[in-house]
Amino acid sequence: MDENHTGNWRTMRPEIDAKACTGCNICWKQCPEACVDLTDKVPEIDMDYCKGCGICVAECPAKCVHFIAEAAS
Ligand code: SF4
Ligand code: SF4
Repeated sequence: MDENHTGNWRTMRPEIDAKACTGCNICWKQCPEACVDLTDKVPEIDMDYCKGCGICVAECPAKCVHFIAEAAS
């Protein structure tokens, strides 16, 4: 889906604390961009498509998805 590729306007990006992740897959279910990959035990977010909306940060029951500023990443 090249047309859905994220531009350089994203200001925040989610980062998963792998040690705290329980593998519940809620971030995968809730992501409106379907850019969370569950191939491994800990989800991997495709930053080429993540819009930085923060839904995964808000919905993670383990509170292990944190927002970081793009400039700091
Ligand atoms: S910030 Fe939004 S788009 Fe990015 S992975 Fe989380 S829910 Fe998906
Ligand atoms: S919602 Fe949180 S605990 Fe659940 S799989 Fe995603 S990152 Fe891990």
